[in-house]
Parts: sequence; structure tokens; C-alpha cells
Amino acid sequence: MAGGYAGKYALVDLSKKKTKIVTPDDAFYRKYLSGYGLGAAVIAELQKPGIDPLSKASHLGFCSGLLTGTGSYFSGRFMVVGKSPLTGGWGDANAGGSFSAELKRAGYDAVFFTGKSKEPVWVLVTEKGILFKSAKKLWGKDALVTEEAIRKELGDDKVQVASIGVSGEKLSLISGVVTDGGRIAARSGLGAVMGSKKLKALAVRGTQAVPVADKEKIRGINKRYLERFKKSYPHDRFTVKIMNTMSLLTARTGFTVPPQPSLVRELFCDYGTSGTTAYSAMTGDMPVKNWDGVGYREFPIDSAAKTSDESVVARQKKRYACQSCPLGCGGIVEITKGRYAGTEGHKAEYETLAAFGGLLLHDDLDAIMELNELCNRAGIDTISAGGTVAFAIECYQRGIIDKKKTGGLELAWGDGAAIIKLTEMIIQRKGIGDILADGVKKAAERIGKGSDKYAMHAGGQELPMHDSRQDFGFGVAYQCEPTPGRHTISSFLYSNLYRTKKKFPAAARMMRRAGKGVAKKVALHAASSVYTQVMNGCGMCIFGAMTSNLPVVEWINAATGWDLTADELFTAGERILSMRKAFNVREGVLAADQRLPDRAAGRPPFAEGPLKGITADMDSMERTFFDLLGWDRVTGGPAKEKLRELGIDGLFGEY
Ligand code: SF4
Repeated sequence: MAGGYAGKYALVDLSKKKTKIVTPDDAFYRKYLSGYGLGAAVIAELQKPGIDPLSKASHLGFCSGLLTGTGSYFSGRFMVVGKSPLTGGWGDANAGGSFSAELKRAGYDAVFFTGKSKEPVWVLVTEKGILFKSAKKLWGKDALVTEEAIRKELGDDKVQVASIGVSGEKLSLISGVVTDGGRIAARSGLGAVMGSKKLKALAVRGTQAVPVADKEKIRGINKRYLERFKKSYPHDRFTVKIMNTMSLLTARTGFTVPPQPSLVRELFCDYGTSGTTAYSAMTGDMPVKNWDGVGYREFPIDSAAKTSDESVVARQKKRYACQSCPLGCGGIVEITKGRYAGTEGHKAEYETLAAFGGLLLHDDLDAIMELNELCNRAGIDTISAGGTVAFAIECYQRGIIDKKKTGGLELAWGDGAAIIKLTEMIIQRKGIGDILADGVKKAAERIGKGSDKYAMHAGGQELPMHDSRQDFGFGVAYQCEPTPGRHTISSFLYSNLYRTKKKFPAAARMMRRAGKGVAKKVALHAASSVYTQVMNGCGMCIFGAMTSNLPVVEWINAATGWDLTADELFTAGERILSMRKAFNVREGVLAADQRLPDRAAGRPPFAEGPLKGITADMDSMERTFFDLLGWDRVTGGPAKEKLRELGIDGLFGEY
């Protein structure tokens, strides 16, 4: 064994209450890294095609990253993997915090669950072994109460807990897995898979050091990296201060200054992701009024600013960072109104501020903070929940549903009380909440009457809060990636910030192959998507890559003792990306199943505003993206030659 990885993963059968330990060899980690790569390799091998993700035959994995716990920066994310009940294809989600490093210190790279427990159960993983504990008393409790109860029972406040709230228990297909008092691995609906297995929580505690091949080398890399990372520039500080004013100019003239990593770093340091809310609303990045509104007209700067930067950090009591993070974009806020008044919670992220803000023409920050806490405790994805509320309001406004259907609740844009009430109904599956609890695609199927036109999803997953008409890269990601409707992979903006072209010679070659114009941008985007898979294999936060040039190859080689070149690492990223897409094809989820809705592609285009006249040529960009990655244009999955080239044809057979 070299270093970096813990060297084993556990397979836990919840029906039989049995565990098996698997110890892959060094070549396995070199091929798949860890995180999503390890997760996809294990599940592709163990899980039969076509199974119901909510059945006992499904597998659900909790993975750390290859670099987690090695001292490399930005490497503390944990990942949940499995077949998504929301999209029917590959599902994954990740979150920061401290869970991942604790899992690794307990001696595991990952823990996989299959089967179904008869009674609610929680599972404790430590160096001493794996224990099953009754969760009867925890069933029905929110995720924060669960976390605290487990720590209390064990008498150890260093135990890290990943749990589900009420939404996962009720098998809501937009539920996720909660850690660290309200951080959620929210997307893909994997909370429902956990709920279907009656697995309330996975608790981990470890004390052993993660093996590292060359600690001195890591220290040296870190020293050099931090010297650059900590540099602050007056022009960036100035730009951060005038961003909202600048956004008004951008909205009307289209003039914009391309952001540099140092500027994003400055912004995230001051505000976290909340720093971009007003800017995004004005410039057309934030979808407004269920993707049908023009930001500066329907959610003007006065409203947007109430849910952005200074307004948000005015409630912040302290900043915090995830394990091994030198940036620290997180914040703990004081909640002063609503049912959680007098408690503290996580600062709302941009996605939440937008999904419960501009998307609903709603600018009451107190109500958004309450919604954030409500969703975090229930373990429901705020992007999907906000998107589903927007869908319901539009259906109501257009007369597709009425008071009879909503149980007397009047739904109007910007009505905080109604938004909170409807979100509660979704969490509890009460009344119309039961129709909406599985996201907009299922809701539109249940409601009918042409409502699918207003269901803003790709492949079943609600679209995030970055408009694909403003940055076509988001459109490519939403439509073409293995997990559709995701904003945490790449975009044209991200791919410039990532510096992918300089980092990987293979990326530059990909761009040369693509040619000019939009195709060249799609190529950089595709290469950056591959880079993101490297990060996902290592447990890294993409904000690290947006704010700096991460020495990821150096960190991996120092931690593992390998001698990987940048291009070999790129191939590992491509393998992880392709495995997840091949999984979709094996499950029958094809390219046509993940199409962007017309509205999100600008069909028809806006008549005014920053996105006036813009239509995204999704067909052409999809073709370029698939061709560059060696994916079939019809299935959307890797062609056979690509599977062979990446050495994963054995995992997927003749799909
Ligand atoms: S940048 Fe933010 S989300 Fe990423 S690791 Fe640091 S604190 Fe966590």
C-alpha cells in the first residue's frame, strides 16, 4: 500500500445485518482514484441493471476522497453515490464539512449499503468495526436533532453523522443526506434511497492518521500554494465593493469584466456564495420568476440586494471553513424570526437565496433563512424545493391548479407565508405537497393539463440557479452530464477560472480538435468537466479550483507516492466521467431523456433584458461535447471503443 487512500471499503447488508470488508490493490486506486470513481466502479459491478433504487437490491455508497485527510487543501468533501430515484440514472451528491476526513480516519475510503432493514437503524463505523443501532426513537426527528442525539448517546462530540430528515424518511425524490448541522449532499434524491433502506444515519469516528507517502513534500507544496493563495489585490477589493452597481451597467449594456480567481476568492472570503446574488439577478445569471422573468424588471436591485452579500452577512455570527480549507466560505447566522428564532444555522448559499428568492420574486430574507433551516433539517434539496414551489405558483397563476387542489392555499409570487406553508406541505407530503414532493417532472405528470411546459428540469432534476441562456456551458452541463441539471461541474465561466487548459496538455489538445468559436468553448468546458471528476475522485471542493491554481497532480503524487503525469490524471478523470454516463445508458437513460426545457434554452427568446434574443443551440453543443468525449450521439454514453480505451468495458458489458 502506498498512501493517500485508507485501503479498504465496507459492504453492509442491512437486511442480514452483515458486513464485508474489501481491500482493493494500489492499481484499483490508481485507476479509479476514490470518491465518485471508487463509488461508480463498485456500484457498476455489484448492482444489477434495471433495479428500483428504492428496493433492497440497490446500493448506496458514502465515499471520502483520495486526498481527504492527507493535509492537501480543499480535500474534505464527502460523497454519496447510487442509482438516482429522481433521474433513473447515475446519482451522486457531495457536501463539505468534516464527515469525510472522519470516515478516512476510521480506516475506510467508503461504506456501501444494500438490503433493507426491517426497523429504522443507524450504523456506527469506527476502527473497531461496524455496529448496528436501533433508530426507532430517531425516526421522525429532523437531521440536526438526530445528529445531536447520536453524539449524546455515544458521549463523544467528535462523532460525525450523515443522516436523513423527514423528507428522506418519506421517500421524497428531492431529499438528500445531511451532515455538520445542516450541510446537505442534496442532489440526485439519494436521501430517499437511504430512507427506503430504513437507514436513519451513518455515524463515523476515527483516530488513526491517513497514510501519506511524503508528508514533507505535502508541507512544501502547501507552503508555496498558500503564499500565492493569500495574496489580496486592491483592484479585487474595489471590484467586490462596486459589484452590485456594476451589475446594473452589465444588465443594460452587456459590458462585463471577466472574473479572475483572485476576485472570486475575495468575494467568497467576504460573503461566501451569497456575494453574487444581486449581481446574478441583474445580469441574467439568476433565473427569475420560474425562468420567465427579467431580473432588473421583475426582481430589481432593491429586492435582490435584500437577499445578497451585505444583507446576508449582517446576520452572520462567525465564518467557518470545512476540513482542510484555507478559504472558509461558510458562515453561521443568527436566526431572529420564524419558528427557529433564537437558534443558529448555516448561512444560506446563493442557490438557496435564489431558489427561494428571485425565482419566486421573493425578497424577505427572514423567510428565506427560515426556509433554509426548514429544508436543512428536513433534508430536502433547496434547489429542487424552490424550483418545485416556483412550478406550483406558475401553475396556480395560470389556472392549472386552484384553491381546491392546494387545500385553500393561495399561491402568489413573492408571498413568503404561502411559500413557507407550501414547502412544509412538500416536506410532510400533505395535500398538494404529496403531488409535489418528488419534484417538478413527477408533479407535472400527476397534474397534467400542459403543466409540463412550466416544469424546469433536465432528466427529472430541477435546474439550478444559473441561467443556461446566459452561460451556454451550464446548458451543456444540465443536458449532457451523467447527472443532469447540475451546476457544480463546469460552465464557460468555471472552465476559464479553473485554468484547465494550462493544467492538462490533454485539455489543450481537446480544444485544438474542436476548432473555433463556441465549439472551442465547449471543448474547454468538456475538459473542465473531466477535471471536476478528478476533484470528485479526490474529495475536493470546486471553489478551490475557481479561486486558485490547485497543485492537484503534485498533491496526489506526494500523498500516494505515485508518479502520475497530468495527462494520466486527466485520463482517470475521463474514466470517472464516462463510467457515470455508461451507467445511465445501462439503465436506459439516453441523451434524449435529458433535454433542456425550451424556456431554459431560449425557445422562444426573451424580448428584453440581458438575455434578449438569445437562443442556445443545444443540439450543436451537445454533438460537440459528445464527440470530444467519445460518446455516442444517440445514447449519450461512451462508445464501445471509448470504454475499451479507458479500460472499463468489462464493467458495463454490451450495453
Ligand atoms: S470553499 Fe467553502 S465549501 Fe469549499 S471547502 Fe472551503 S468552506 Fe467548504
